Amino acid sequence: MTGVCLQCGIRLNRYHTGNLCYACQDKRLEKRIADREDLIDAEGYAEMLGLGSAEQLKRLARKGVLAPRIPAIKKYRWRRTDIEDWRKQKQRAGDVFRKIAMGISSNLRKCRNDSFICLSLSDKIGSKVYGQALVLGTTDTGRIEPITLVKVERDMALRMLEQLPNKEFPELIGITDWANLTYDKLNEDLIVRLEAYF
Ligand SMILES: [Zn+2]
Repeated sequence: MTGVCLQCGIRLNRYHTGNLCYACQDKRLEKRIADREDLIDAEGYAEMLGLGSAEQLKRLARKGVLAPRIPAIKKYRWRRTDIEDWRKQKQRAGDVFRKIAMGISSNLRKCRNDSFICLSLSDKIGSKVYGQALVLGTTDTGRIEPITLVKVERDMALRMLEQLPNKEFPELIGITDWANLTYDKLNEDLIVRLEAYF
């Protein structure tokens, strides 16, 4: 994928399917609604996502990252409403994961900046990564006192963690809970990658 929307140039995250942002995909969908077009073929879906060819689209379909095809017919055909629903669902998921990732990043950064307070770098960050408790930290004025972390829903944060590929987040290999992350794995680079991923 291109990284920016071909139509309007807005930045697309890696989680995004297609070469157009959701707003631009919406505009193309609206046109089909106006044309009362209810079934979409591979060419139409490819156009909607700003892809160069139907072949590209079929590859994505085989990878399972598109709306579900109409069952039982062995053809590349989609109901427009299925595409619409899938798009909305994906956008919502992206929004949620982004918010969660920002919360976790913020908490990781605060905890990391205060890692000198912890006893050892092999310590686990623990549940404070979810911001459920006040922790001792350094405030903007340099004083050490209780600081507030961002409250993050653990279940969603675990689902977000599952989305992160090992290849791009080698620090997280073997980590199934953010709380088990140890301070030695925590670095600014990881935090920045996390902030930019969704
Ligand atoms: Zn766009």
